[in-house]
Amino acid sequence: MSHEGIRIVRSDQPQPEELPLPIEARTPAKVRVKKTEGTGVEIDWKDGHHSQWNFAWLRNACPCATCNDEREKSGRAPGEPKPKPQTLLMMYEAPPRPVEVTPVGNYALRFKWNDGHEAGIYSWEYLRRVCRCEACLAAAERKGDLR
Ligand SMILES: [Zn+2]
Ligand SMILES: [Zn+2]
Repeated sequence: MSHEGIRIVRSDQPQPEELPLPIEARTPAKVRVKKTEGTGVEIDWKDGHHSQWNFAWLRNACPCATCNDEREKSGRAPGEPKPKPQTLLMMYEAPPRPVEVTPVGNYALRFKWNDGHEAGIYSWEYLRRVCRCEACLAAAERKGDLR
């Protein structure tokens, strides 16, 4: 019996990208950047979904190539803080907050952080995919995603 013509898709092969999100799911109806309060970002999406993130989480989820590489090498999920070396425990470090948030076209927000980093362009699509609401976290857990 020949197995020719049967292709077994192995899990170590590159997986197709996640399905594109419906347009309403990645179009914000309302965006609140609570820069003055220093709390975080809230988005009401056109499909009625609500997301919010604190600034520390967003800083650690910076989608720029450098931060992405760095996270991949250290095996951190977006938003997961870097482990701090023991010796730095006593040092004061200002909590991440944006000094400037600017819209990029109509598809993203660019954050300039108080540590000087400003390479990250947070697209609506990215933000929706990293939604931290209970329903999305539960769904991510079912899929085995780290968040
Ligand atoms: Zn970055
Ligand atoms: Zn959600």
